[in-house]
Amino acid sequence: MRIGLYPGTFDPITNGHLDIIERATLLFDKVIVAVTTNPSKAPLFDIRNREEMIRGSIQKFTNVEVEGFDELLVEYAIRKKATAIIRGLRAISDFEFEFQMALFNRKLSEKLVTVFLMPNEKYTYLNSTIVREVASFKGDVSRFVPEIVNIRLMEKFKKAKEES
Ligand code: ADP
Repeated sequence: MRIGLYPGTFDPITNGHLDIIERATLLFDKVIVAVTTNPSKAPLFDIRNREEMIRGSIQKFTNVEVEGFDELLVEYAIRKKATAIIRGLRAISDFEFEFQMALFNRKLSEKLVTVFLMPNEKYTYLNSTIVREVASFKGDVSRFVPEIVNIRLMEKFKKAKEES
């Protein structure tokens, strides 16, 4: 069984991430979307919420699972018997960081393969940071994220405004 592991912060999941997940489902028997706790990034949504939003966005796929993880990626990948790590490459700007990570992970575990998938070009400008920023100013992000994420973002910033 070929298992693809797609790790990330997903704070929150966007249509760009979904595009990569869809492509990965064609290559792997099973795709695990692995959500890092990553406290150093001080995420807007806690891990439980991020996982919930991903689950609510991937219902049409029968071979995708979501899981949180809090350990070294290579160790987690070996434990899950992953065939490959999946990462998205949007533009040259992603390349340097992704290249460095892939090579470093390979140093940690010689057998671990990283594959890069390119999203539809309409998502090359899209990232979670921009989505969070636009939503925080009440901008309309409905075209860029799954419906559940749009709803959660509106709730989050409405609540933040009421509290301030
Ligand atoms: P990380 O914090 O690990 O970069 P992200 O959630 O930001 O986590 O991204 C996870 C992966 O998804 C990364 O490989 C990133 O390049 C990719 N990715 C993020 N946004 C997009 C997008 N719009 N199109 C394609 N890939 C994307």
